[in-house]
Amino acid sequence: MKVKSPLEVYKFLPQTNCGECGFDTCMSFAAHIIDRGVKPTDCPPLVKESEKDPKLKKKLEELIKLTSPEIAEVIIGVGDSAIKIGGEDVLHRHELTFFNPTAFFYDVWDTMDERELDERCGKVVEWKKFYVGDYLTLDGIAVRCTSNDPEKFKEVAKKVAGYGKPMILVALNPECMRAALEEVASYRPLIYAATEANWKEFLELALEFNVPVTLRAKDLNLLKSMAVTFKNAGVNDIVLDPVTEPLGEGLRSTYERVIQLRRTAILAEDKDIAYPIMVTPLVAWTIDADDVTKAYWETVIGSLFVVKYGDVMIFHSLEPYTLMPTVTLRYNIYTDPRTPVQVEAGLREINNPSPDDPVFITTNFALTYYTVESDLTSANIKCWLLVLNTEGLGVEVSVAGGQFTAAKVKDLIEETGIADKVNHKYLVIPGLAARLQGAIEDETGWNVLVGPMDSGRIKGWLEQNWPPKK
Ligand code: SF4
Repeated sequence: MKVKSPLEVYKFLPQTNCGECGFDTCMSFAAHIIDRGVKPTDCPPLVKESEKDPKLKKKLEELIKLTSPEIAEVIIGVGDSAIKIGGEDVLHRHELTFFNPTAFFYDVWDTMDERELDERCGKVVEWKKFYVGDYLTLDGIAVRCTSNDPEKFKEVAKKVAGYGKPMILVALNPECMRAALEEVASYRPLIYAATEANWKEFLELALEFNVPVTLRAKDLNLLKSMAVTFKNAGVNDIVLDPVTEPLGEGLRSTYERVIQLRRTAILAEDKDIAYPIMVTPLVAWTIDADDVTKAYWETVIGSLFVVKYGDVMIFHSLEPYTLMPTVTLRYNIYTDPRTPVQVEAGLREINNPSPDDPVFITTNFALTYYTVESDLTSANIKCWLLVLNTEGLGVEVSVAGGQFTAAKVKDLIEETGIADKVNHKYLVIPGLAARLQGAIEDETGWNVLVGPMDSGRIKGWLEQNWPPKK
């Protein structure tokens, strides 16, 4: 995206504040274009006028160009489970944000035993882990053609499609790919892969079935020339695979190729290679080693390219020791640095508390909240927990920055009606907010006790301090 501020976008809009787009003002619409919530074509007057006036048409086209992401966005799958890959604007998250998390696919193959196939697909569909208020999940299934039999591949692709997850079809044989596409093209799978040897047939398949296609070549000049050929032929949904090598020099040169692709696309604005990048950590399973070592290297490769520009990946291991580091790292890299992760403010009842139990207060920064909540729950502490809206900031920062104040605590006490739920007026504040003790007492009329610095120590603290000595 070449424009970075709503004001720059605003110049292209009709500036009538008509509200037809669903926003009160053109400036508000412009802000949502920057956030990728809407597109320029979501402004009806702009579209209508541009149909009548060639000058306005040019202006609209320019705005679309200026607001398009640097890296093309490709959609795999259909309906609610469809995922977007690519669509990034920057090399480093802190420059703006990353928009589309790396998509994780897990392989199955068409010579698998049916029961094993069902088990693996089921695991990909069902796997989830609760983390900082969100569920971490897996994105899709990559069906590998190991039979080289078009009928077999087609049959397994159809079965996998029934699981409702986005798919990658992996076959170098165009006949096998065609057979599978005849059955599942409507699910919009990503096809993998067009190479120097089969690109003509794959180009025909991508055009005929209108599906996204992966181009695969270690030589970046060849990769670029294939991308130009596909683009000129009318294929827009392209993914680039510069070939993943698992160990030693091979891994180092894989890293260099990926970096070069993305840097050239963004810094040199080379649109010919500005596409999402495919990385295949499952190549670690070609290493001559035991299974745990292979999974270890698969995790290393996956993690490396989550940090550096892998937009879509194919994994093999579904072991927790591969899943946990990769999905957690992905979550952290793709969290929007402009928006602190926060939970809803209000009152929580922990372990079914009674009116005699203590009242704690914490902030709505998700990491703080879930740490405190989990410490209280796991220690079987019955209590009331007030969650203050500190705009997603932690205790120390919000006390210093003025988001955690005595006046806001008073408002929260009133809004939640906590005084009617307990038969005391004692509030326990975090140790890191100790300096607000007097101010909160003055503002609220409650007795304020200063709790420990660390919520892990609340149990020991309660043994000494609760019930309070009158
Ligand atoms: S529809 Fe267009 S002109 Fe009307 S408020 Fe929205 S952006 Fe402005």
